[in-house]
Amino acid sequence: MHATIDLPFPMRALLAGARRKEAALLDLAQKLVRVESPSDDKAAVDACVALAAAHARGLGGRVKLHRQKKFGDLMEARFGPKSKTGAAGRTLLLGHLDTVWPLGTLKTMPCRLGTGRLGEVRLWGPGTLDMKVGVAMAFTAIEMLTDAGMLNQEIVLLLTSDEEVGSPVSRATIERLAAECAQVFVLEAAQGLAYKTARKGVGDWRIEVSGVAAHAGVDFEKGANALRELARVIETVSGWTDLKRGVTVSVGVAGGGSKSNVVPAEAWAEVDLRIVRKADGGRIERKFAALKTVDKRCTVAVSGGINRPPMERTRGTVRLYRQARALAAELGFPLEEASTGGGSDGNFTSALGIPTLDGMGAVGEGAHASHESVVVEHLAPRTALLAGMLGLR
Ligand SMILES: [Zn+2]
Repeated sequence: MHATIDLPFPMRALLAGARRKEAALLDLAQKLVRVESPSDDKAAVDACVALAAAHARGLGGRVKLHRQKKFGDLMEARFGPKSKTGAAGRTLLLGHLDTVWPLGTLKTMPCRLGTGRLGEVRLWGPGTLDMKVGVAMAFTAIEMLTDAGMLNQEIVLLLTSDEEVGSPVSRATIERLAAECAQVFVLEAAQGLAYKTARKGVGDWRIEVSGVAAHAGVDFEKGANALRELARVIETVSGWTDLKRGVTVSVGVAGGGSKSNVVPAEAWAEVDLRIVRKADGGRIERKFAALKTVDKRCTVAVSGGINRPPMERTRGTVRLYRQARALAAELGFPLEEASTGGGSDGNFTSALGIPTLDGMGAVGEGAHASHESVVVEHLAPRTALLAGMLGLR
């Protein structure tokens, strides 16, 4: 079954500790959720960051804000003894405070405790599952270890503010801090009940086709139909999908033309790419760059590329998962591993070769949807598990 691990502490005691802190955890989570923080509103995200920074300082964290112009500031907080062994003595805990929800969402999607379909208690609200509850779990796990005198390594908690828009400004900081650490724990939601050991890589492109406008009745032959040409391009790129290799190319939005009686001079499409293997990224980037038109009077221009490399199921990540599975067994629940087509900031750290375990946050459903919620009964066991993983070093 599971590998046995010499535990420096009893997991059941951690679970009891997590249960004692559950009310405070829920309180902190609700405070974070009630400060709405859409990625594109710096002032709003900064208010949420300030709340998290104050909490981190209250726990004895050494807080550093990485100021940003366009997005919310990034919060780095270090806990525990400073590492004397470099990366070996450090873990990066990675989360984000931005959400996909615009200001005012709380009016129609209030943050509240209530019951779900099966009578289970849930915390509802924008950004609960993705991922402010995960942030509250991390703070609670750090507090538990500190209180118990079990924090024997340096924990670097990094909370970013632009994850939901692809981490354009935080990526460099994420990668720099990850390189200083032996392992990365990502506070994104679990996949069902499972931790995530693999994620697909993500790319996006915009395709623009230019043709020649003409009157569809009077001058048909003079026109070069950009929409027709775009349709051919869409067929071409869609044909790169290879489900066996885990490659999907999906044209998500498209448009063009002006009036039905005008041969369109412009057409465009936006494309989503997912890959399992890093090598497929370069291969498909080259294919996009080499796209050609059939009608030589049309031209095609592409922009975009791979945004997140895949998080491959590496040996280091599997080793972390097996440790977590053994600790979960001590706590009395089975822990599965899962892969997902969605990307996270764990993709960046894993691609650097740093063992990365993801999905260590809350259990629930409805990320980016109006029924976003977290199941409360899983909070204490998952927080105890997170604390146990942090306490192993
Ligand atoms: Zn997220």
